[in-house]
Amino acid sequence: MLGGRQDFDELEASMNDPPEYDVIIVGAGFAGLYMLHRARGIGLSARLVEAGSGVGGTWYWNRYPGARCDVESMEYSYQFSDELQQEWQWSERYASQPEILNYLNHVADRFDLRPDIQFDTRVQRANFNEATDCWVVGTEDGNAMSARFLVMATGCLSSANTPDFPGSGSFEGPTFHTGRWPHDPVDFTGQRVGIIGTGSSGIQSIPVIAREAREVVVFQRTATYSVPAHNIPLAEEEQRAIKADYAGFRERNSQQPFALGSRLPGNEALALSTEPEERAKVYEDRWQHGGLPFLGAFGDLLFDGKANDTAAEFVRAKIRQIVKDPVVAERLAPTTVIGCKRLCVDSGYYATFNRDNVELVDVGESPIEEITPRGLRSGGREYDLDCIVFATGFDAMTGALLQIDIRGRDGLRLRDAWAEGPRTYLGLGVAGFPNMFTITGPGSPSVLTNMVVSIEQHVNWIADCLEYLGQNGYQRIEAMAEAQDGWVAHVNGIANFTLFPSCNSWYLGANVPGKPRVFMPLVGFPPYAEKCDEVVAKGYEGFITA
Ligand code: FAD
Ligand code: NAP
Repeated sequence: MLGGRQDFDELEASMNDPPEYDVIIVGAGFAGLYMLHRARGIGLSARLVEAGSGVGGTWYWNRYPGARCDVESMEYSYQFSDELQQEWQWSERYASQPEILNYLNHVADRFDLRPDIQFDTRVQRANFNEATDCWVVGTEDGNAMSARFLVMATGCLSSANTPDFPGSGSFEGPTFHTGRWPHDPVDFTGQRVGIIGTGSSGIQSIPVIAREAREVVVFQRTATYSVPAHNIPLAEEEQRAIKADYAGFRERNSQQPFALGSRLPGNEALALSTEPEERAKVYEDRWQHGGLPFLGAFGDLLFDGKANDTAAEFVRAKIRQIVKDPVVAERLAPTTVIGCKRLCVDSGYYATFNRDNVELVDVGESPIEEITPRGLRSGGREYDLDCIVFATGFDAMTGALLQIDIRGRDGLRLRDAWAEGPRTYLGLGVAGFPNMFTITGPGSPSVLTNMVVSIEQHVNWIADCLEYLGQNGYQRIEAMAEAQDGWVAHVNGIANFTLFPSCNSWYLGANVPGKPRVFMPLVGFPPYAEKCDEVVAKGYEGFITA
């Protein structure tokens, strides 16, 4: 019954019938849209289910003031269609949220994707039916559908995290989460705004809100390293030059460890073997260039604590130069390893604290005690606020997947399989969950890359795999437990070789109370992509097909 209403239990009981679709895709962000396009391209029937009312994923939900990408626009875009990448014009070096959302709407229209997308529909449960090798998927509105394959394009940063402060809900004014921002612009004029959180979303929104609001009080738990974006309009000649060899540009970027920034690639020299004067010059040049390539200043920054501290000290010195009040500057100067949490890329973040209407409150030492009807209390003081912005991040990488009750072979629940942290093979498949794929799943480079590159690499791999299964008459594919164990050990081994596990980042799940502390992404894109190709060349090594 195509697209009609069906009950989950009835559908499961009647699973002798062929499934309605070849593939169900969950999520209409960069990943789901391209997956739908590829699935249709290889002749599969596909249904994409999306909780939001439109396409865009991250760029549909994160409409907060100042939201923009921190990977340059010419890179943060699809490469699967040369016509698309040639015809689309970006207006700025780092595109704003509305522009990226326009782009994804354009993609949906250009490739006529909407007829196969079901909006306003949240997937609640999914059961693998062993008798038929199919998935039955249940949605929050009580409906159900079935498919042979289930592709989770649910996003690494799509499950908003709002800390459960005492008194939550008692506040009488409006509250906003950056990742669930209203569609109508919020007017902060004349308001006293409290902003909790100083990660990428906080550092982007604080300067913009501060220009509008009467007062802004920033509640900072951990100080943040941020490098200026130096965002500018994108020159016509620059776009033309890149487009003249877009394929070559994409290829060079994908050869970088984080799949981005080939125009200022990582420097292999070691910080500790470089004379201090020369070292300072390298940092200064990268600071002036702006953005994430700052971390590529030296080859040892993410591996050696002492080397890392030379970069950290450079940024701390910049903060002390920019921020006039030395007490505030010291409070803003991070003491952690630089790059171990995602480096932020800002437009005037530190300088915002020179404004008379901005106050910085350190809630690291004395945590927020409670939300009150009039504001919030911290360090024994009550802050009167008209509204509160939660820039408190996401239950990253596993949150969106584990919110769905996914049951694989023998009724195995994903929540139980991942009780001590996510376990995948290549971040693409999970042992015990046949015919299910995760796009940019834990155990893949995902959030440590230009994510569009990782997404396209995963979608291409999955689509090729589906085509291979069809051509060979296979009904089923599943990651082998031993292959998965080996992969998890490999991901952990690489992480432990770096400084990444050394701070309380969302990469480790440390931002969500009670979440298992496991480093979830894999460091290093090029060897990973090679490994995925090798698995295919060896007949899907590590997977069982039947
Ligand atoms: P998403 O865009 O998150 O889409 C997932 C979709 O799945 C969502 O629309 C969600 O509603 C839907 N969904 C989830 N669960 C369900 C369910 N149960 N039922 C139905 N639908 C569901 N990455 C970069 O590389 N560079 C950047 O500059 C960058 N900037 C970012 C800025 C912000 C503010 C944020 C939050 C993230 C940023 N990222 C960036 C990461 C970004 O998430 C990825 O680049 C990319 O947009 C992810 O696309 P996706 O399709 O995998 O997931
Ligand atoms: P985030 O990096 O996790 O930052 C959340 C902030 O909230 C942190 O400062 C955190 O403090 C604070 N916080 C969380 N719980 C708190 C509590 N109970 N009390 C006080 N403070 C609390 O989340 P995000 O800023 O939304 O960014 C998430 C990721 O999305 C980024 O790392 C990036 O990958 C992506 N992103 C990118 C951009 C971009 O520039 N393109 C913009 C936004 C997001 P602690 O540090 O102490 O935990």
